[in-house]
Amino acid sequence: MWFLITVIAGLALFQVPEHACEDFGYDGVIGPTYWGDRYQECRGKHQSPININVLRVKQVALPDIAFVGFDDSIDDVHITNNGHTVLIEVENEPHPRVSGGPLDGAYVFSQMHFHWGDNDTFGSEDKINHRSFPMELHMVFYKEEYKSVKQAIKYSDGLAVLAFFYELDRHKHPAYDDITSALGNVTEPHTTIVMSQPFSFLNILPLDLRRYFTYRGSLTTPPCSEVVIWLDFEQPIRLAHDQIEAFRELRSANGKIRHNFRPIQPIGDRVVFYNVDNNYFNYNEIDDPDEANAGTNRRKKGHNYSNIVRINLYIFVCTLLIMW
Ligand SMILES: [Zn+2]
Repeated sequence: MWFLITVIAGLALFQVPEHACEDFGYDGVIGPTYWGDRYQECRGKHQSPININVLRVKQVALPDIAFVGFDDSIDDVHITNNGHTVLIEVENEPHPRVSGGPLDGAYVFSQMHFHWGDNDTFGSEDKINHRSFPMELHMVFYKEEYKSVKQAIKYSDGLAVLAFFYELDRHKHPAYDDITSALGNVTEPHTTIVMSQPFSFLNILPLDLRRYFTYRGSLTTPPCSEVVIWLDFEQPIRLAHDQIEAFRELRSANGKIRHNFRPIQPIGDRVVFYNVDNNYFNYNEIDDPDEANAGTNRRKKGHNYSNIVRINLYIFVCTLLIMW
């Protein structure tokens, strides 16, 4: 009895810190190091994010990805600050979807969200050759046959996430102005607004959607379910500093969300595939006997560089002769 009275008195006297009510966060006792205490799967062997070493990727030429509804003008777009990130959801039916590439069947759009860092030198979740980018976009899709995200996370091929990196540009990206100005209305956690302007997926993505890395991993937030087919597109989206800074103004229950990326996890026995379009340059040649026979019409980076040097030298010499 006395114990109960003491507890009740204690609760009345001391306010429980707000972050004690948060599921997870990115700092202190609710930070990524401790996620596994409450969510077992966060200690799994196939976790995300990872560092992608481009010298260790396996080159593949996968079927084209079909991006359905990506150029539609979507007019019912909701932007939500959920206390961890900003979510973009669409109400229009049918939702955009993807198929092809490494995916078996169609995947339906659920939501997209962002991860960022305290400043422009880091903030992405996956890294390429240990390079961080200031921000990363995750477009989350669930496998159509599983009907919902809730059902899909029970299966190892339940989700597909299209990941896009951001890099700095001196100029603003016009398609992002509507998003960044909307952020000013969802600064406080658990607030939502409807975007005033229509919105198209293709407008906010990079031009090259053919070259990407793909691997099997997990959600990068609790419960860290290992159900995600990741597609990390190589070409970054270019944003101005002020546009990225707008995300850092969002608040959680604990103050500004200055960073919300999970540190990289061990790659373990996983292989990262690199989808190459045969018409583009290759990163590197893999020591694979099948590749050696298949790649006769591929242009090699080194050869092209030497051609460029030769042409430049030729122009330089000609210019000198003309001036002479
Ligand atoms: Zn994410």
